[in-house]
Order: sequence, then structure tokens, then C-alpha cells
Amino acid sequence: MSDEPDTILPRIDETACTGCGECVVACPTQALSQVDNKARLTHPDLCTYCTICEGICPVEAIELPFLVVFSESNLAEWAGSTLMSDPHRP
Ligand code: SF4
Ligand code: SF4
Repeated sequence: MSDEPDTILPRIDETACTGCGECVVACPTQALSQVDNKARLTHPDLCTYCTICEGICPVEAIELPFLVVFSESNLAEWAGSTLMSDPHRP
């Protein structure tokens, strides 16, 4: 695997990557580069999590970890139910 930070960013399986460069070309923000004939997320700060790279890779070497997005309303609902079920709640 790569030495990229373990965050909600694309993860590139360097073993599977063939270095075709399709993801590098397709990335709209130039977050990816080719290093030693492998794709690397060299500019994670530029990644917008658009998922294009994951979809375009012919060998499925890129994975975007699942991201759960809470809207304000269901976050409030979740927080309320969590508080109600908290046994330590006074
Ligand atoms: S998710 Fe989008 S912005 Fe991020 S590296 Fe992939 S193609 Fe580039
Ligand atoms: S598209 Fe896939 S195989 Fe090609 S360089 Fe990117 S990660 Fe590697």
C-alpha cells in the first residue's frame, strides 16, 4: 500500500496499479501524479473527493473510503436519540 495518510481520501493499491496513468489524466484537480510508474495522491489537499479516479481505473486499484454525510436534521435526530439512550445521562 501507499504511504499516504489514512484519511477519507482515495487509497491507491500500488500492487494492483499498472501505472497506466488514466487516473492522473482524469483527475480534474491534479491531485494525482505518477511516481515510479505508479499513481500517487501527491496533493491530497487538492482532492475534492469527486470519485472520478475510482471509476476510471481499469484494474480497480483506487478505492474511496465510504463517507457518511449527515444532514443537519438527521444529525440532530441522531444526537437526540444518542443522548436519550445514554445510561450516564443525568
Ligand atoms: S477523487 Fe477526484 S479529485 Fe480526488 S484524486 Fe480522485 S479524481 Fe482527483
Ligand atoms: S488508473 Fe489505476 S492502474 Fe492506472 S495509474 Fe491510476 S491507479 Fe494505476
